[in-house]
Amino acid sequence: MGLLEGKKALITGIANEKSIAYGIAESFHREGAELAFTYANDKLKKRVEEVAKEFGSKLTVKCDVSLDEDITNLRKFLKENWGELDIIVHSIAYAPKEEFKGGVIDTSRDGFKVAMDISVYSLIAMTRELLPLMEGRKGSIVTLSYYGAEKVVPHYNVMGIAKAALESTVRYLAYDIAKYGHRINAISAGPVKTLAAYSITGFHLLMEHTTKVNPFGKPITIEDVGDTAVYLCSDWSRGVTGEVIHVDNGYHIMGVFGREEEIK
Ligand code: NAD
Repeated sequence: MGLLEGKKALITGIANEKSIAYGIAESFHREGAELAFTYANDKLKKRVEEVAKEFGSKLTVKCDVSLDEDITNLRKFLKENWGELDIIVHSIAYAPKEEFKGGVIDTSRDGFKVAMDISVYSLIAMTRELLPLMEGRKGSIVTLSYYGAEKVVPHYNVMGIAKAALESTVRYLAYDIAKYGHRINAISAGPVKTLAAYSITGFHLLMEHTTKVNPFGKPITIEDVGDTAVYLCSDWSRGVTGEVIHVDNGYHIMGVFGREEEIK
């Protein structure tokens, strides 16, 4: 029996089969979860419908998280089709491309607002709105963060600030929802070549460096993230909440930039 058998999981943030959320959907499907999907806009509708079909689901709904009415509509959609919910995967972030060019010092007021709204506030709004569907079900919520929340990663800029806020939000929400028996955690993933990643100036250099110097000397995969998400949404992690788990092949533990062979 799969680890998520009988669980109903909402997957947000699939843009294509390279998306981290796609890797999570793969792992959840393998472990027996039923899946529903959101897409951010009509351009992504068809693609997400195809992905849903691949995972045996007909449940797809538009949800642009900058719109309160879309989040309300999402709750209505899930209520109608499932009536209940066990898992939310929040795999959404956005900042305008120009914000990844200079430094944090160049951040525009609008860029800051948009990054915080889409990448952080959406987690709060979605959790609040969908909470009634999780009643009595020991729900689990997972969001995606990055090391740029903790340390300076050149050009990650306002998204680093947003991820720091996201990780803090996870701790506060963990406290709020614990009284209902639910949990929330973040996965801090190493760099993965996705659409969102390509907005970041110099992403390929970041990827190359991180891969070379992490203890395993290889990049992480979306399946690595997916399998950690299974753990976080299964009963095996019942004592874990408000946590940020690094799935980065150990990059964050390094105190110098490189394994022995690189710093000789
Ligand atoms: P991706 O481009 O495949 O996914 C980002 C998703 O965010 C897309 O599906 C997009 O439609 C969605 N989105 C953007 N604005 C939205 C809005 N207004 N409403 C609803 N959805 C919206 O890229 P990804 O790398 O899979 O990103 C998923 C998450 O993983 C993000 O939070 C990202 O910051 C995080 N992350 C990525 C990496 C990486 O290197 N790729 C590393 C660590 C964390």
